[in-house]
Amino acid sequence: MGEPIRNIVILGGGTAGWMAASYLGKALSGQASITVVEAPAIPRIGVGEATVPNLQRVFFDYLGLPEEEWMGECNAGFKMAVKFVNWRTPGPGEPAARRDAGGSDHFYHPFGLLPAPDGVPLSHYWTRKRLAGTTGEPFDYACFVEPPLMDANRSPRFLDGTRCTNYAWHFDAARVAAFLRGFATGKQGVRHVEGTVSDVRADARGYIESVTLESGEVVGGDFFVDCSGLRGLLINKKLGEPFIDMSDHLLNNSAVATQVPHDDETHGIEPYTSSIAMPAGWTWRIPMPGRFGSGYVYCDAFADKDEAARDLCRLWGLDPEKAALNHIRFRVGRNRRAWVGNCVGIGLSSCFVEPLESTGIYFITASLYQLVKHFPERDVDPVLRDRFNREIVDMFDDTRDFLQAHFSLSPRTDTPFWRATKELTLADQIKEKIEMYRSGVPVNPPSTDESTYYGNFESEFRNFWTNGSYYSVFAGLGVRPRSSLPIISYRPGSVVTAERAFADVKARQRRLLSELPSAYEYLSHLYDA
Ligand code: FAD
Repeated sequence: MGEPIRNIVILGGGTAGWMAASYLGKALSGQASITVVEAPAIPRIGVGEATVPNLQRVFFDYLGLPEEEWMGECNAGFKMAVKFVNWRTPGPGEPAARRDAGGSDHFYHPFGLLPAPDGVPLSHYWTRKRLAGTTGEPFDYACFVEPPLMDANRSPRFLDGTRCTNYAWHFDAARVAAFLRGFATGKQGVRHVEGTVSDVRADARGYIESVTLESGEVVGGDFFVDCSGLRGLLINKKLGEPFIDMSDHLLNNSAVATQVPHDDETHGIEPYTSSIAMPAGWTWRIPMPGRFGSGYVYCDAFADKDEAARDLCRLWGLDPEKAALNHIRFRVGRNRRAWVGNCVGIGLSSCFVEPLESTGIYFITASLYQLVKHFPERDVDPVLRDRFNREIVDMFDDTRDFLQAHFSLSPRTDTPFWRATKELTLADQIKEKIEMYRSGVPVNPPSTDESTYYGNFESEFRNFWTNGSYYSVFAGLGVRPRSSLPIISYRPGSVVTAERAFADVKARQRRLLSELPSAYEYLSHLYDA
């Protein structure tokens, strides 16, 4: 048996740094001391406000933190889907959906798995009906319960706390980091050192030994987690690990973000993230109590900072001269290896796609899960390291491809940006998935049902974007399969069963619409209690 790791140094106190400190603190049950080094003078990225559902089960539940405990501390609201607005029709950036042949130019990408009558996902029965001309209803409204609930700004929970559907959260990123810092330093004995790292020492093998602060203080350790954000101070700058740029897949590299006050009592709180197509990218709208965060994500080859700021402000009626705007330049891609020597990059120092499907915090959660699964002794077994690196590559590339398909399959070609998105090459894996979709074969249907899929992160991690996700986005963008799954035609009994499933979706929509409180009512009730 080798010698265990005794001292872990985490460089960076953003969302990644404090999530890592909390998670490793719990996973190593106090057997290793953990120090977070953070430069108060170097600001955190300050965005990262929309999440995916497994954040509770895989991260907060693991730490023993119920939803009700952290939500209020982080000004959290609910997210039942991403709503895509104007991704099909040409025109300027505008928050209201335009009209096209498909009706309103919006669609939802909800969480959750589709029912599968006789083992075939409901999506494929919908395609059969659509091709036969027996339904004109959009896929999301026909197959998921959530869309009408979101249109009506309903809560995904009843006032007594009973949940009726899958959801994630919107929250204030600064408050999450502060909350987790309190948890890690208070409950788990994590040491917090404030200061700017100006030097990093490594041994002849390239194993990091210590970081030196501007004050001269030296913080040593035998395992280092680089959470220094886009700088990649340890993994890229010190260890020289190359960052593989993926701008040949995803064009967006910049954002301008702001906060907009909101009258929740009058207008309600939307329980979803909006993604509004813009001339050179798209804009997020992330509602939470009292305000919404918004940012225009764009490619700087097609819009400059002033133009982006103007277009964002025009959406919400803000004065670009007076609004507090945060301009961000980000890198899209991943490190060739996420773990090098005794140093693992987590968060923006490791990889980033772009915020379209809110995967930044998911990547942090998943990386921590994989790190714990492969956690080494002091002399790192390269097999553990290589396995971890393989998992991160697969996680990243799969999401990169799914995101690229959003742009590639959108019918928009009205601006130089939208035309350029069609000229990029798709990876073979996603090309194959698109072909499967077009020919009526389910893409990545989960092999388990909803209860075991979501309760078992191993299975979710390996199959993160399931048939329901591909269908929501592809069908939402107006791409239709050529045919339905042929086997359905041989099974009239299954078609009858599917009709019952469609009717059940409708019945649940009606019942929940009449019974659920609004998101505003639920959150007011939760935070006043
Ligand atoms: P940062 O927040 O940048 O933290 C870096 C830390 O390192 C800071 O504490 C800093 O002080 C410290 N540091 C740096 N250099 C030094 C030094 N020399 N010495 C000491 N300390 C140092 N993710 C989502 O899940 N959902 C979203 O909706 C979402 N939206 C996004 C929108 C945009 C435009 C961008 C760019 C990202 C978005 N993300 C989103 C990703 C998300 O913001 C990040 O994954 C998350 O905030 C983690 O950031 P981080 O902790 O890695 O880096």
